[in-house]
Amino acid sequence: MSRVFNFSAGPAVIPDPVMAQIKADLPDWNGIGMSVMEVSHRSKEFIAVAQQAELDFRELLAIPAEYSVLFLQGGATLQFAMAPLNLSSEGQVVDYIQTGSWSKKAIAEARKYCTVNVVADSADRNFTYVPKEATWERSGDSAYLHYCANETIGGVEFPFVPRSDGVPLVCDMSSTILSRPIDVSRFGLIYAGAQKNIGPAGLTLVIVRKDLLGNVRTGTPSLLDYAVYDQSDSMSNTPPVFAWYVAGLVFEYLKNLGGLDSAAMINQRKAMKLYAAIDASEFYSNPVAVEDRSWMNVPFVLRDADLDARFLTESFAANLTNLKGHRSVGGMRASIYNAMPEAGVDALIEFMHGFEKTHG
Ligand SMILES: *Cc1c(COP(=O)(O)O)cnc(C)c1O
Repeated sequence: MSRVFNFSAGPAVIPDPVMAQIKADLPDWNGIGMSVMEVSHRSKEFIAVAQQAELDFRELLAIPAEYSVLFLQGGATLQFAMAPLNLSSEGQVVDYIQTGSWSKKAIAEARKYCTVNVVADSADRNFTYVPKEATWERSGDSAYLHYCANETIGGVEFPFVPRSDGVPLVCDMSSTILSRPIDVSRFGLIYAGAQKNIGPAGLTLVIVRKDLLGNVRTGTPSLLDYAVYDQSDSMSNTPPVFAWYVAGLVFEYLKNLGGLDSAAMINQRKAMKLYAAIDASEFYSNPVAVEDRSWMNVPFVLRDADLDARFLTESFAANLTNLKGHRSVGGMRASIYNAMPEAGVDALIEFMHGFEKTHG
C-alpha cells in the first residue's frame, strides 16, 4: 500500500523526507555497520546526534540561554505530576485553567500534590472556547499558572499567551509545539509529548527556566527531578535514543522548510481552508469559537450522525485515514500537524464536498 493521508491525532504522521532518511540510515548508520538503535547512548556517534537535535530545537524556538532543554520519557501525562512536584511545595495553591480533556487531566493529577484553584473553566459550553482573561479568578499566592495551549480533543487553541503576573507560566504544548513561533521567555516551563508534532512516541520535550530547578519535593524519585536531567544532559539513564534521533531529523526538516515562520504560514493556510469549507456548508459544522479554533486539530460533525460510519468507510477508501473523532466528542477530527501536507487537506476538502453532494 502506498502512503495515505493520515489525520491521526497521535501518534501522528511523520514528514516524508524524514521517513526516507530513516530508511536510508537503517541498518547501517553512518557506515558504522550498526543502526542508531544499537549503539550506546554514550557513544560519540549518538552524542553528536543528541547535541545537534538540542541545538536545532533551540534555534527553531529561539530558546534563551537561561532555559534548559530536557529529553524525557513518560509522555505529557507524567508532566502532569512532574510540574507540581518540581515547582510547588506541599499543600501550596496552584492556578489552573480548564479548557478541555487534557487540562482536566492535568488538574486531577495536580490535586494529588497541591491545592488546585481552577481560575477559569469552559465546561459550561462543552469546552468550545477559551474564557476571556479578564474573567479569570487568580489566587494571590499560587506557585504557578498552568494551561494547555491546544486542546487536542476539543480543537481549542489559545490565541494568546496568558499574563502570568509574576508567577511561572506552565504550559502543555503537546499538540501545538513547533507549529508557530512562541516567545519562550514568557514561560517558566513548557512540556510536550513528541508523538503529535515532533516525532515518535516515547520522548517528551521539556523547556524549563534554570532558576526553577533544584526545588523538587523531598522523597521524589530522581527520575522525576528536572535537575537530575539537567545535570546529566538528559542521560541520567538510557534515553529513548531512536525517538531522539528521529526528533532531530524532524528539527532539521523544519529548518530546511524555513523555520517556524514558514511552518506557521503553511499551518494557518491549511487550517483556514478547512474551516472555510466547513463553515460554507450546511452539512458540516465545527462548534469552537472562531477566534479559539485550533490550527492543528479540526473537529467537525456531520448534520446527520447516522452518516458517520459511511463517511469513515468512504474516506478510508479514498486514502484519508484516522478521521474518527475522539469518543468524548463524537463526529470527526482531522489532525493537520506540521507533517500533514497541504495536498492532504485539499484532498480531504474535495472528499467532503463529494460526500455532501452524494448524501447531503
Ligand atoms: C496527547 C496529549 C497528552 C498526553 O500525552 P501522552 O504522551 O499520552 O502522555 C497530554 N496533553 C495534550 C495536549 C495531548 O495532546
